Amino acid sequence: MALYIVEDECISCGDCVPECPTDSISESLVAFKISEKSCTECEGEADSPKCVDICPIDDCILPVA
Ligand code: SF4
Ligand code: SF4
Repeated sequence: MALYIVEDECISCGDCVPECPTDSISESLVAFKISEKSCTECEGEADSPKCVDICPIDDCILPVA
């Protein structure tokens, strides 16, 4: 269970980075990126994914299929 950032939607504001309880978000070449290995979808930390809650762009952070 993990989320990913849609590169074409991300405006690289960085707002999601400090929100992540597992330090899973980092800057990448074209956009920010979530580490699928460490993203827990904020289970046990919050009722909903904190990165999605803070992200100003709709449908920028989605579940990995
Ligand atoms: S869902 Fe939670 S753990 Fe996963 S990247 Fe977003 S803030 Fe981090
Ligand atoms: S908050 Fe959204 S737009 Fe901003 S860096 Fe994170 S994923 Fe990209």
